[in-house]
Amino acid sequence: MEKGYRIETKCIQSGWRPGCGEPRVLPIYQSTTFKYDDSDHMGRLFDLEAEGYFYTRLQNPTNDAVAAKITELEGGVAGMLTSSGQAANYYAVFNICEEGGHIVCSNSIYGGTYNLFGTTMKKQGIACTFVNPDASYEELSAAFRPDTKAVFAETIANPSIVVLDIEKFARLAHDHGVPLIVDNTFATPINCRPFEWGADIVTHSTTKYMDGHAMAVGGAIIDSGNFDWMAHADKFPGLTTKDDSYHGIVYAEKFGKGAFITKATAQLMRDLGSIPSPMNAFLLNVGLETLHLRMARHCENAQKVAEFLHGHDKVAWVNYAGLPDNPYYELAQKYMPGGTCGVLAFGVRGDRAAAMRFMDSLKLTAIVTHVADARTCILHPASHTHRQMSEAELKEAGIRPDLMRLSIGIENVEDIIDDLKSALKAI
Ligand SMILES: *Cc1c(COP(=O)(O)O)cnc(C)c1O
Repeated sequence: MEKGYRIETKCIQSGWRPGCGEPRVLPIYQSTTFKYDDSDHMGRLFDLEAEGYFYTRLQNPTNDAVAAKITELEGGVAGMLTSSGQAANYYAVFNICEEGGHIVCSNSIYGGTYNLFGTTMKKQGIACTFVNPDASYEELSAAFRPDTKAVFAETIANPSIVVLDIEKFARLAHDHGVPLIVDNTFATPINCRPFEWGADIVTHSTTKYMDGHAMAVGGAIIDSGNFDWMAHADKFPGLTTKDDSYHGIVYAEKFGKGAFITKATAQLMRDLGSIPSPMNAFLLNVGLETLHLRMARHCENAQKVAEFLHGHDKVAWVNYAGLPDNPYYELAQKYMPGGTCGVLAFGVRGDRAAAMRFMDSLKLTAIVTHVADARTCILHPASHTHRQMSEAELKEAGIRPDLMRLSIGIENVEDIIDDLKSALKAI
């Protein structure tokens, strides 16, 4: 893509660049495999000596075009799609942290990621220390060990809406010789580009705003190309020593800034296989074309809803980083001056039953296990997404038992507010 295009243009034009007489719209290459004329050519592909497609588990033109678009939106050098956000976060960490390794992770993260790092990867011999992202640099430094391989956090945490101090976390990670991996799902590159603040790897659940229509589960990993693996060669042998499962290739030597994504594709995707279908990548691309329009409306609507709830006497508290009295307002202004996201959290006065009555009285706002799509929806994390966490773990993660996560859609905001108003009357 020509340099200098603004992000709105990239949403529409990046990725698929048709040649003369080719389809204007990104085609769906719904093919598992690709044909070659001679066997030697195919051999070179397997050796990673030639570029080209051979099997969709490793690469597919539709998937690659969409990955290239997200890479340009984030300002990275290489990227890949995965079948889900869970797979993206798993691959991003596992690509550099194997058995015996350790990561430092913000405790304000998505429940699925909390389980992945705290339980499932633990069974693979990967340890995780959860930290309070608001702790001081010194306190956070104490969580590092000689075997620490990465720091992980979310730009805007789902569902606690904690805004990450990206520069503090980047400095922390780099001072300890490891990369910072940031899950940028909620902010999207429209509102925040973590690479500009020092993050090294960005992940996404594209299921959310990027798709935007609740049509396809998906994920993405983007590399800034900025982390110098060779400078910390002893920590990252997977990138800096020979991969015997791939003809003795040393990824960091052979692929330079593309090393991280090449390894994740050639090794993890080859063996674990969490690819998106080309059809789903196509749907994601349609979503990406309007991402810049939708994010602006999500944020505008959410700001008005947050202000409405903030002023309502039946509402106990509202957490939205766009409210000036929010503890994360300053960080949000710094990292996301154009808006944060359409998700907010709040609690109503009274007991848990009052919250349930409120939710059951909503008409336009649907109770669904989803966030960040065009339709307004609501969820009670303590009894839904995070129900496997103990009260103490919930408290640690900044999720109050009465917290309701409200995802503001792009409907007319007066209709959303009317719906909330009448449900509040019912309690
Ligand atoms: C939803 C979500 C995930 C998991 O993504 P899936 O696409 O559902 O697998 C990871 N991180 C964040 C911040 C999310 O909101």
